[in-house]
Amino acid sequence: MTRKTQGGTIQLADTYMFRTYSRFPITLVKGQGCRVWDEEGKEYLDFVGGIAVCALGHSSPLVGEVLERQSRELVHVSNLYYTRPQVDLARLLVENSFGDRVFFCNSGAEANEAAIKLARRYARERHGEGRHNIVSMKDSFHGRTMATLSATGQEKVRTGYDPLLQGFKFVSFNDLEGLENAIDDSVCAVMLEPIQGEGGVVCPKNGFLGGVREICSAKGLLLIFDEVQVGMGRTGKLFAHEHYGITPDIMTLAKALGNGLPIGAMIAKEELSDAFGPGSHATTFGGTPLVTGVATAVLSSILHDGWLDNCREMGRYFREELLKLKEKYPFIKEVRGLGLIIGMELDRPGKPIVDACMEKGFLINCTQERVLRFMPPLIIGKGEISSLVRALDEIFGGTT
Ligand SMILES: *Cc1c(COP(=O)(O)O)cnc(C)c1O
Repeated sequence: MTRKTQGGTIQLADTYMFRTYSRFPITLVKGQGCRVWDEEGKEYLDFVGGIAVCALGHSSPLVGEVLERQSRELVHVSNLYYTRPQVDLARLLVENSFGDRVFFCNSGAEANEAAIKLARRYARERHGEGRHNIVSMKDSFHGRTMATLSATGQEKVRTGYDPLLQGFKFVSFNDLEGLENAIDDSVCAVMLEPIQGEGGVVCPKNGFLGGVREICSAKGLLLIFDEVQVGMGRTGKLFAHEHYGITPDIMTLAKALGNGLPIGAMIAKEELSDAFGPGSHATTFGGTPLVTGVATAVLSSILHDGWLDNCREMGRYFREELLKLKEKYPFIKEVRGLGLIIGMELDRPGKPIVDACMEKGFLINCTQERVLRFMPPLIIGKGEISSLVRALDEIFGGTT
């Protein structure tokens, strides 16, 4: 009976929806903390966390409480009017970041879209025509809108959509010389993820981000950090760039900001304020009282309920445990990451491992075909991590 229902959902999806996603053949119906359940009642420990979204876990009581209260009070009125939750969230973001001003939207792609528009407009107002190019990184990921896929340095994201938006150049991540060579009078900004998430949890080498900051400052370029995936506490600090002692001029956020409610934010320094004056950019839904009310509670909780400490501690433990597996299994090439975004690079495809984990009741992710990626909720505990590591050990033991 239940099997029939589950097949039903998958069949219906196949009939009525675009097949844009190659999904796993399970239908999830319930979540609680770091666990989710499928239609057949099978339980999974979730190390994907909605792709680094559910920082406070599933069915967070905090989120539920704000959702309930705010949905009875005011859900949406448009940005023709002021609403308090939006302003409270903007203030909290500014008070806890390098930034001075915030623009709200609905997704990571939209936040990056706003950043790209702001950079171009600022450059035009400040330097006149011709300074519109943005240098981005190979293997980056910035979203799926036309502008953000044009900014993305991965062929598989761009293919079939020509002509793309003009004005993006690509250099290798961790290559300061390449970056320097790519900069000329046509460039207005450098855009990158402090740690490349979709690119395979690629971390910056010592001095890379500092070097990028120096180049940008010396040449009068804006530095844009896409923290859509690694922001909001994922690395054990509120924003990933805090680990490197530098600040960008513009930063984008989304994923964990609403713990599952759709919200994006673009944050920038005061000097960019005038480039985004009245009428320059807008969105109908961006920053509704409902979503910003939830995001304010999420941000406060990440800041004040000890989740950053937990993230650092659990991340350290998790990496140590995975490194022990690396000692044991030569097909593990590298374990890398910061806080609770961890990549384990294999010398072979990761899909069979992901499938075997699912069979054993663990959701994990694989990116770039060979990098197992772990992004559990920040509330994860040691027992949950060690049970995954035990499962991986058994699976790896069976595959060699
Ligand atoms: C997920 C992601 C995006 C796109 O966010 P959407 O909400 O899917 O539009 C952009 N940049 C990075 C680094 C991401 O991880």
